[in-house]
Amino acid sequence: MVVMLTHDFVGYLLNKFINRFNLSTKGRRFTNLLKYSSISDKINKVKSGELSLKDNISELLSRIKANKHLNAFNFVFEVDSLKEAERIEVKIKSGTYRKLAGAVIAIKDVLSIKDKPTTCSSKILKDFKALYTATAVQKLIDEDAIIIGKTNCDEFAMGSSNENSAFGNVLNPVDNSRVPGGSSGGSAAAVAADLCDAALGTDTGGSIRQPAAFCGVYGFKPSYGRVSRYGLTAFASSFDCIGTFTKNIEDAALILEVISGKDNLDSTSYDSPVPEYSKNLSTKKKFRIGLPKEYLGEGLSEEIRNAIDSLAKELSSKSFEIIHISLPHTEYSIATYYILTTAEASSNLARYDGARYGYRSENSGTLIDMYKSSRSEGFGTEVKRRIMLGTYVLSAGYYDAYYLKAQKVRRLIKNDFDKAFEKVDLILTPTTPTTAFKIGEKSDDPLEMYLSDIYTTSANLAGIPGISFPYSKDSNGLPIGLQFLAKQFDELSLLQMSYYL
Ligand code: GLN
Repeated sequence: MVVMLTHDFVGYLLNKFINRFNLSTKGRRFTNLLKYSSISDKINKVKSGELSLKDNISELLSRIKANKHLNAFNFVFEVDSLKEAERIEVKIKSGTYRKLAGAVIAIKDVLSIKDKPTTCSSKILKDFKALYTATAVQKLIDEDAIIIGKTNCDEFAMGSSNENSAFGNVLNPVDNSRVPGGSSGGSAAAVAADLCDAALGTDTGGSIRQPAAFCGVYGFKPSYGRVSRYGLTAFASSFDCIGTFTKNIEDAALILEVISGKDNLDSTSYDSPVPEYSKNLSTKKKFRIGLPKEYLGEGLSEEIRNAIDSLAKELSSKSFEIIHISLPHTEYSIATYYILTTAEASSNLARYDGARYGYRSENSGTLIDMYKSSRSEGFGTEVKRRIMLGTYVLSAGYYDAYYLKAQKVRRLIKNDFDKAFEKVDLILTPTTPTTAFKIGEKSDDPLEMYLSDIYTTSANLAGIPGISFPYSKDSNGLPIGLQFLAKQFDELSLLQMSYYL
């Protein structure tokens, strides 16, 4: 206890020091108050006896308790993780350990883990326990990672503020009066508050990158197909991607190379060898960097615009070529995204009918009544809104006007990127138009909320990878995240550029 208090106190002083001298305003943000700087460093410290894995888990569990008000976790696996710590500590000491030995990872509650609850933060899946484990999670476990719990999120990953959760909203650890972003708000908050070493999230239209930006951590969304979606509860199947929240690039690279790769259980997973990202982070390559004018227009906060300008200047002074580009169909991305994802969601969510999974209403007479009342009582407002919108755009009279049209525009948006990547290696943009907003500020205005994804949805429409990295802070001390995008399956360039920064 004394050790923990002292440790927290040291962390507190360190943060004060960092804030006072503005040390964290560029590059790496010092979020890690634990005694190691990365997962590999942690393994070395356990190996040398400097760190006990069991103590480390106990410390994280106490930190989770002390930060209960953040509401970052839906479930914490206290007993299991302590047991795993003992087992893996022995493996590390005897030299038979694997890549992620002892890395403590939190999992967004839309990913299945056998015999554990998988609720998607929805009442309709209350009490549901998964029958199998998602491939991405299984790969972490196979590499000796420790799963500490399941994180809160917007219901079925629909939202940008984590205010649409049956478990209540999550607070931003940097400023508790603000949202952590969404939909993977719990994962972002858990990493930012040092409640775990890293977390998995999912990104259908920005749900990793936007909360990472709001909480001041690294959020990595791989290319569509890079990571198997088997065991991920589908929201919009042609958009959904599993990715990482980390405190540094080394950890992002390490976890990504573990979870990536072809999986026979997901026919959309990409069949090609996975590069060893973590061993290839250093490069002398001077990437050509595109600045798209459509991402720097009206609606972008001045402070974020200044951050982009300052990074572009800095890079150009280091002989990176900065090229002004245009992605002309950007203005249609939000509309296209919300037509296509709601269409896919309305179909994917048809399976929750009270008969097969989770919640069944007590108030049901006939079978149809049972469907109706289970869905009416089980789903929250935002999910219902999307099911209705999606059903509408797929209906016979409107299919051509909306759904088919949106599919064509999706292709145009992808073509914009293909063209741009003939001239540039990476595209630099803001991650979000503003820093973290106040809780309740946008919850009554869905359109306003949807606009907070304006810089992230295009990557999912095109299937390309993106990273949000913490760059600086605004005048309120809130993190500013910036985004790099790369062409499909060029995750390595994103990691190398961010590592260089
Ligand atoms: N905020 C976006 C939405 O509400 C993105 C969600 C996501 O990426 N899962 O659809």
